Amino acid sequence: MTVTTSTAVTTSSTVTEPGWVQDWAAQGACRTSDPDELFVQGAAQNRAKTVCLGCVVRTECLADALDHRVEFGVWGGMTERERRALLKKRPNVQSWRRLLEAARTEHELAGSDADRRVG
Ligand code: SF4
Repeated sequence: MTVTTSTAVTTSSTVTEPGWVQDWAAQGACRTSDPDELFVQGAAQNRAKTVCLGCVVRTECLADALDHRVEFGVWGGMTERERRALLKKRPNVQSWRRLLEAARTEHELAGSDADRRVG
């Protein structure tokens, strides 16, 4: 069965909560790219990050990389250096998934409230 959410189209078996894609890797914008393109160094990382800009599972990817302390490569639009800095800045975060999911939900609700006021 196919379920359409506000952020992605996925199967019901892969969604644990509305909008959160469990098997995000299968839907990543990079799924057809050469994996070596995301595991580059220096300025090439900025090029690699552009692949993530329009990715529908960017939040899921970033949360997974942060929660699992992935040390190398571009994940969720962030380099390993950027992720390390974020982890250092927010050492008390127990679950990046929970944090980012809540932030996204709040953002979506704020957007729909604004749409109602305009419409
Ligand atoms: S956010 Fe970037 S690295 Fe993660 S799945 Fe999407 S394209 Fe791939």
